Amino acid sequence: MICVSIGRGRHRHMIAEHKHLAENGMVLVELRLDYIQGGVQLKRLLADRPTPVIVTCRRAIDGGRWEQSEESRLLLLRAAIVEGADYIDLEDDIATKVPRYGRTKRIISHHDFHKTPSDLSALHRKLSAMDADIVKIATMANHPTDSLRMLELVRGSKVPTVGICMGDIGVPTRILAGRVGAPFTYATFHGDRVLAPGQIGWRQMRDVYRYDSITSATQIYGVVADPVAHSLSPIVHNGALAAAKIDAVYLPFRVPAEQIDEFLSDASRWPLSGLSVTIPHKETILRLVAQQDDLVKAIGAVNTLAFGPSRTGVVSSISGFNTDATAAIESLDAALLDHGQTSPEEVLNVKTALVLGAGGAARALAFGLRKRGIEVTVASRTLDRGKKIAAEVGCKAVDWQARYRMPHDCVVNATPVGMHPNVDETPFDKEHLRPYMVVFDTVYNPENTLLMKEARAIGCRLVTGVDMFVRQAATQFRIWHNQAAPEGVMRDSLKRATASAKNPE
Ligand code: NAP
Repeated sequence: MICVSIGRGRHRHMIAEHKHLAENGMVLVELRLDYIQGGVQLKRLLADRPTPVIVTCRRAIDGGRWEQSEESRLLLLRAAIVEGADYIDLEDDIATKVPRYGRTKRIISHHDFHKTPSDLSALHRKLSAMDADIVKIATMANHPTDSLRMLELVRGSKVPTVGICMGDIGVPTRILAGRVGAPFTYATFHGDRVLAPGQIGWRQMRDVYRYDSITSATQIYGVVADPVAHSLSPIVHNGALAAAKIDAVYLPFRVPAEQIDEFLSDASRWPLSGLSVTIPHKETILRLVAQQDDLVKAIGAVNTLAFGPSRTGVVSSISGFNTDATAAIESLDAALLDHGQTSPEEVLNVKTALVLGAGGAARALAFGLRKRGIEVTVASRTLDRGKKIAAEVGCKAVDWQARYRMPHDCVVNATPVGMHPNVDETPFDKEHLRPYMVVFDTVYNPENTLLMKEARAIGCRLVTGVDMFVRQAATQFRIWHNQAAPEGVMRDSLKRATASAKNPE
């Protein structure tokens, strides 16, 4: 069950949002009284409520907006119980001051906006002993292990417990709450109006993550990155999983570089079935991957992990794949064929290519282009990274300023320049674009980058990052689920997300 938290300054807005949620099938709502400006009119909020409610009134120290006296807050909470609120949220330090009365259920809560305490069990025991119907613990995750400890606590608790880790790192705990037996999870009315760090909107929780269909049998996949909030992979993969009716969920895992070893060594505790790997882990994660396919070995970068279960269900092996290189070359081929070239020989009319950037994507592209016999020059801000690729794949490396020195048949952007929100930037000035060029921008958010717009205006042939993204995701899907991916669904999900969300989650 998803509990949607509503925090609005005016009663009528809170009531309207509550009604809207009920009309859309939501069955539990948290009314955050601390958001209401002026006096709270409890009767007005509770009289004709369309769903059961949790009444909450948070002080600033617990992340709330209540500015009046503590005495008046306690009075308000007691009054809410008298009015028959379905649930009342009481922080642990006031739990004994507000006694049980009538049918109102008590949620005893604890918040820590800085850390996840090392002894969660002791905290849980303390809260459970305060006449709790439900225990709620919300703490800041500074490490993915914090999220794991929280999920394990909820799974093992006898008193119904909602255990959530806040912040980007803690997002998986919100989505997996039901999988470990929590009575509900919290979401917000709007994804961009969060009441606590890391909260996500109820529509995303319901429609992207399909929260209510997650059970203890649901397999866990995800993308590991830092940052991860901007990633559209969850939208694309969850859309495909739903269309293919596969009992799995795909999560955003924010894992800082220095925490990746521990995260992978904990794979069986989640348990993880597969991961997409992106910035900054594509190259550094290699040393932790025992089985690498030939492309990974050749390219030196991995973007896909598959976790093999042993007979006991514990992860026994990690296999690494690279789906970027083939996706890039297939996209290039497809775009050229679309433009009238009808044979691979004509596709090979592209004889020289300039790759902008020297990261994991650039490496995969340089490798794929070289395999096609295309002469490649890598232009990079950090020349040493470009030189390393050049030595490994057999191409040239020049520094960033030298990127216009020689004309090329194909220009590939493998940097994030032009990516949302910096949509007014381009890595390659339009003065240097020529109509005979093939221009390939790996950036997929937005699809229509400034580089793509300017190249189109000049009459260049275009390859977009959306095409590459869908192809690499479809190959991941095939590796993990052993069946063809619904590519049309993936493409539509990605296009909808990039078109509708200026700041996609
Ligand atoms: P990465 O390993 O972090 O590499 C990024 C590269 O871009 C580095 O060489 C970096 O230079 C360079 N760079 C960053 N900002 C720059 C700037 N302002 N000017 C010049 N160079 C700059 O990242 P990655 O995994 O290769 O990904 C790069 C981009 O490829 C991503 O942003 C993504 O949009 C795209 N991508 C797309 C797909 C797809 O399926 N469409 C798949 C993978 C990647 P330094 O080394 O100097 O920092």
